[in-house]
Amino acid sequence: MHRLTAVSLAAVCAWMTGGGFPAAAQDTFAVVDPPACTSNTGEPVAFEAVEGRSGLAAGMARRDGEGRRVVLRSGFSAAPPAFQQFIDRHECAHHQTGDVDMPHPPRNGPEHLMNEAVADCIAILRLRDEEGYDEARLKEVTAALAADMARIGFPEISVSSRIRNIEGCFAKTGDAAQLIAARLQERGL
Ligand SMILES: [Zn+2]
Repeated sequence: MHRLTAVSLAAVCAWMTGGGFPAAAQDTFAVVDPPACTSNTGEPVAFEAVEGRSGLAAGMARRDGEGRRVVLRSGFSAAPPAFQQFIDRHECAHHQTGDVDMPHPPRNGPEHLMNEAVADCIAILRLRDEEGYDEARLKEVTAALAADMARIGFPEISVSSRIRNIEGCFAKTGDAAQLIAARLQERGL
């Protein structure tokens, strides 16, 4: 059993440590089925529920003790289904783009923020193209994300720039596969 020790940018990705989380009364939602996810190296990615901070949905992409690729999900029942689906695909994207096997860039540095922005973009494109998300579902994702980021204490500028990126991606003509291919090519992977 893994335990999450860090929570991510916007409570989505455990690559970024969160601060103290205020306790809050939470709605409880059914946990969604995980999406298909295969890494850039062709390995399957398993999704596993783990314990985390209550009331805050989070994900983490990593290899487990046996080297298997996993996405660890915690607190998912606290998040609306659209946001759960977004977190799954965001974490999957870290496996698809090669992030998981690369040295972690300095926290909150430009390289790290770029990895997060790309993962957000892949996630929202998959929701648009594979799950048929429309503007209303997009808003469910960004509203939940904004609420969690605010709770964690991110400044408004971080929240709004992240959401602008997601909205911009949603309006793109390209798809997730093209973005992943471009990212891998940039990295020589
Ligand atoms: Zn991430």
